[in-house]
Amino acid sequence: MNPAHLETLNERQRSAVVHGIGSDAENVNRPLLIIAGAGSGKTNTLAHRVAHLIVNGVDPRRILLMTFSRRAASEMSRRVERICRKVLGNDAGVLTDALTWAGTFHGIGARILRDYAYEIGLDPGFTIHDREDSADLMNLMRHDLGLSKMESRFPTKGTCLAIYSRTVNSETPLGEVLRQAYPWCATWEKELKALFSAYVEAKQAQNVLDYDDLLLYWAQTVGDPELAAEIGGRFDHVLVDEYQDTNRLQSSILMAMKPGGCGLTVVGDDAQSIYSFRAATIRNILDFPASFDPPADIITLDRNYRSTQPILAAANGVIDLARERFTKNLWTERQSEDRPRLVTVRDEAEQANYIVEQILENRERGLTLKDQAVLFRTSSHSGPLEIELTRRNIPFVKFGGLKFLDAAHVKDLLAALRFAQNPRDKVAGFRLMQLLPGVGPQTASKILDAIAADPHPLAALAEIPPPPRTGDDWGKFVDMLSEMGRGGWPGEIEIARLWYEPHLDRLHDDAETRKADLLQLGQIASGYGSRERFLTELTLDPPDATSDQAGVPLLDEDYLILSTIHSAKGQEWKSVFMLNCVDGCIPSDLSVGTTAEIEEERRLLYVAMTRAKDSLHLTVPQRFFTYGQNAQGDRHVYAARTRFIPATLLQFFETATWPVAQPSAPGTRDARQIRLDVGARMRGMWN
Ligand code: ATP
Ligand code: MG
Repeated sequence: MNPAHLETLNERQRSAVVHGIGSDAENVNRPLLIIAGAGSGKTNTLAHRVAHLIVNGVDPRRILLMTFSRRAASEMSRRVERICRKVLGNDAGVLTDALTWAGTFHGIGARILRDYAYEIGLDPGFTIHDREDSADLMNLMRHDLGLSKMESRFPTKGTCLAIYSRTVNSETPLGEVLRQAYPWCATWEKELKALFSAYVEAKQAQNVLDYDDLLLYWAQTVGDPELAAEIGGRFDHVLVDEYQDTNRLQSSILMAMKPGGCGLTVVGDDAQSIYSFRAATIRNILDFPASFDPPADIITLDRNYRSTQPILAAANGVIDLARERFTKNLWTERQSEDRPRLVTVRDEAEQANYIVEQILENRERGLTLKDQAVLFRTSSHSGPLEIELTRRNIPFVKFGGLKFLDAAHVKDLLAALRFAQNPRDKVAGFRLMQLLPGVGPQTASKILDAIAADPHPLAALAEIPPPPRTGDDWGKFVDMLSEMGRGGWPGEIEIARLWYEPHLDRLHDDAETRKADLLQLGQIASGYGSRERFLTELTLDPPDATSDQAGVPLLDEDYLILSTIHSAKGQEWKSVFMLNCVDGCIPSDLSVGTTAEIEEERRLLYVAMTRAKDSLHLTVPQRFFTYGQNAQGDRHVYAARTRFIPATLLQFFETATWPVAQPSAPGTRDARQIRLDVGARMRGMWN
């Protein structure tokens, strides 16, 4: 008989859970790869494995669990607790609370680096730059080196950052990255080299780390065999979900921490690898077994528990056309009559209408909004739908789009906290100082450089004579910073907020709404133990935007999920809508260069389709609007159904056109009119 907490698993899943633990002494601590398709229970198996470790007496503080997002990590911790409860009863909570090392690669990296900063000559007070801050710093360097004024167009700050990031993450020389992925920038190799050196120096001088640095410095730390043994020795078990989306640097960190693979478990699906633009490589998964001697054990799973048979058949059809694949097709016992629907609509407005109508119908049938999600290839694709949802008062949360933290006022307040934390952080200082009337970029830059050279930058700032035309504002600014130093956490966020509000009133017409956001930020902040922890966590995994722009959603509220496919990874919903299933959107116009890029777009569609449990709708607008992506700028284009669903796959779908064209006989209203009336009635429900 199986122990209570393993009863729900199938045999293969169970063997993955118990591998090398407890009575499975034969395999004790041998490295394990679980490779399997979507919805086959990989994440569920991993959660059971963690629970099984805890039940078998492994100290949860010695388990390192790495997931794709912080959301996934906390979901996993909750699952682990539920499973443990079956065996341990109420003691489970105490034990799983000690599962403190669950998070993203970057988040875990930041924590480890704070502990070992001195060992590698880093100041542990470092602040972390998000992608936008990094691009801003790259831009400052571009200006400093005079590259922004070159005759022919030098790559934008975003492109520069992407090239830089790819170079460090793939551990490939710049020249090769340019030739492979950015051929149109290859003439700038010399300038880019100079720019990247300046960027690296600036980060060091300012004691800031960007996302890539968290991995780079971590790799450097464990590059020292003694430190590697010490850090690796803190964990008896290291488990990684979504391993197909890790890059070389990440796998080299794992290998350095656990050279023999002892206690290492990785889980992934090559058919869902969608992060090659961040240098992720499925070689990590494929090469994993042979990285050890003897090689790692491999367990595959092939039963899908998520989707109905028709949905799975269609998804399998799409991925079958891929050039390269390692995992086999999945099967399911979930029978259903409903094939996924492939619906042609006139344009994006009709598409939004169609989706909203279906969502409301589903709701009539008893689904909540949270049971449903709308997915898209690129964040901007959801624009018309967001307008329609707002118009109809349907609350939604958008993953992977504009973040709460991207709002200017939220960034301003965070800049104050960051500057107090690390006055050498020039991007934060630059943003903050220019809020003061009378301070322009040149003055700000001069002051920041001057204080950065002082061992006590904030004291040096207080000594600087007020720049001309700043009036009282200068004094108030300096006072705010010194008060913050004495304010303690989370009180200091209040100090910053009170200082900032008059500027907010001066700068924005909608100051009141923005003030509400800042109050909310204060509330979020109070949940963190320290300023440093708050800034780190928030920068690495910011809350998502909501329909009312009031920050994070209330948890008891029912809302629809809008998400890019990338951010939908690992998740599932009863009903899934995928919009803009047309060539140009998926595959994206920007990714039709190489076969590898097109293959990745195919996997993206596969990931999207395999999120659905019971119902799946793919919509194909006949026309859609491009936002300045083409040389011609914004324009309407006529679209064709995505090449990933060729005619040979249509058998897997129920095809339809919407609105349904019906001859309108006298005395009857056409179908569209009736549908709109239904919509109007439902609007009443929402208001
Ligand atoms: P993805 O590749 O999308 O990340 P996954 O392989 O991680 O998927 P899970 O998310 O773990 O799959 O599981 C998919 C669904 O199947 C979940 O709802 C999970 O609860 C369910 N499931 C997994 N294993 C079983 C099982 N043995 N019995 C019943 N349901 C299961
Ligand atoms: Mg998963």
